[in-house]
Amino acid sequence: MRVTVLASGSGGNACVVESGKTRVLVDAGLSAKEIEKRLAVRGIGAETIRAIFITHEHGDHSIGALTFAARFGCSLFATAGTADALGLEGNLFSPFVRMESCREGRIGEIGFRPLGTPHDSNESVAYAFEADEARVVIASDLGHVQRQFLDFLRGATTLLLEFNHDEDMLRDGPYVWPLKQRIAGGWGHLSNRQSADAVSTTAGERLRRVVATHLSRANNTPALALAALASALEVAESGAAYGAADQDDGYETFDA
Ligand SMILES: [Zn+2]
Ligand SMILES: [Zn+2]
Repeated sequence: MRVTVLASGSGGNACVVESGKTRVLVDAGLSAKEIEKRLAVRGIGAETIRAIFITHEHGDHSIGALTFAARFGCSLFATAGTADALGLEGNLFSPFVRMESCREGRIGEIGFRPLGTPHDSNESVAYAFEADEARVVIASDLGHVQRQFLDFLRGATTLLLEFNHDEDMLRDGPYVWPLKQRIAGGWGHLSNRQSADAVSTTAGERLRRVVATHLSRANNTPALALAALASALEVAESGAAYGAADQDDGYETFDA
């Protein structure tokens, strides 16, 4: 499998997962035009995208989904709650496929499995994609780590995991108090510490790479997120490669 992050952060998220001839987009949180442009920069034709898997309805994950799907004729995969929030049911232009947490499915050469996540949205999910002996887990926008989630991370060969904020930076930073509470709360976003703990608890022998995603520009720095991630991998005695995805540049294409 190959993974390409086009954009990551509260300004928009989109990522390409592919195996053989099957190519899907995970989230479409930029305008359809911008996604098409960023795909072209990576040498990927927008018309080759077969489906968009949407994690949840927040605009930074979904804003371009309907337009992109209609323009390039791909289907939309989402949970009932997300579909309801986005008005996907009965949408005339692109087929909508309803998913349920923990229920496995397959599209072309890629197997997939969503897992419900705690976030202030209708029915958000994280995804695991499997093909070619690889298991890619993509998880962002969740407020706390549950046992089920840790089980979901185990056995991953590639992990794209939210490292949203540094707890001290968030506390002392510019956001108003209710927003700070929302982000730090159980239905907000994972901090560097929470995600590092999840990595050190679950990193297995198969883990080859971890990409820190959805970094907050106001409440985090790549250096802080990467330091937390590096020490988590050290604790787990994992030799996995690691890096951080960027809002504007995404993350380089790699073999999962
Ligand atoms: Zn988000
Ligand atoms: Zn969100």
